[in-house]
Amino acid sequence: MRTADLHIHTHFSDGTFTPERAVKEAAKNGLACIAITDHDEVSAIKPAIKEGASCGVEVIPGIELSAEEGDYEIHILGYLIDWSLPWFGEKLIELAQVRRNRALAMLEKLKNHGILLDPDELMKSAEPGSVGRLHIARMLYDEGFVFSIQEAFNKYIGNNCPCYVKKFQLTTKQTIEMIRNLGGVAVLAHPHSIGNDDLIEEFAKDGLGGIEVFYPEYTKSVSDYYSAIAEKFKLVLTGGSDCHGLGKARILMGEVKIPYKLVEVLKERANKG
Ligand code: AMP
Ligand code: FE
Ligand code: FE
Ligand code: ZN
Repeated sequence: MRTADLHIHTHFSDGTFTPERAVKEAAKNGLACIAITDHDEVSAIKPAIKEGASCGVEVIPGIELSAEEGDYEIHILGYLIDWSLPWFGEKLIELAQVRRNRALAMLEKLKNHGILLDPDELMKSAEPGSVGRLHIARMLYDEGFVFSIQEAFNKYIGNNCPCYVKKFQLTTKQTIEMIRNLGGVAVLAHPHSIGNDDLIEEFAKDGLGGIEVFYPEYTKSVSDYYSAIAEKFKLVLTGGSDCHGLGKARILMGEVKIPYKLVEVLKERANKG
């Protein structure tokens, strides 16, 4: 059976793989298709498509945007987007600047907790992509302030932890609209992480097109549960590993393989607008 993994990060956001390495890893795992979904970044798409052409892996253009819904942080995946439109490029430049300023604000907060991290080194560790909390977590770990990446989030930079700084974000509705203006399908990423499934109905009314129902560690009953919600609101099903290369405790690629049929359904949805 042909399979796909529709949630992969590269070193253009907080993953560690180059786009080429990500595609090679996909080929090694027998995947027929992957989607590159960097946070607020699209630079990996072109090189990944090129590598995919030589490895026989189809690469779907994607992005992962964070949105805000009251106190909730919502991650929205945008698939099959027209990623090279100039207005979108300008928006991404703006988001990258927001990320840099916010990372510096988090370093200031860490300083108040007696933790001194070099801002230049942090920015360098994020090259060539956009800086995020995982880069800060990795630096806290590398410099011995925490015993694990998880501890960095639990103690310092997780949502609502003492050194966490919110980044300015669009609302979920605005984010969905932006993805649809790019000709793409907006899909709710790792729905469990919101902690309030009642919000999904509103997102569907706002034009959400799908839910990521296959995700590492989702048992069959979790996937079935979110699939039923998707069916109720006429949303397509997607899934992916959320692989960050070596950026997470283990390489997640290969842990989620969805039937290629779901990619076809996603494409149909994109064509319907
Ligand atoms: P940011 O976009 O800068 O707010 O960072 C969010 C990213 O940090 C997520 O996409 C994950 O890669 C990572 N992240 C968030 N929470 C955790 C956590 N508890 N453990 C490990 N990584 C996390
Ligand atoms: Fe991430
Ligand atoms: Fe996410
Ligand atoms: Zn992700």
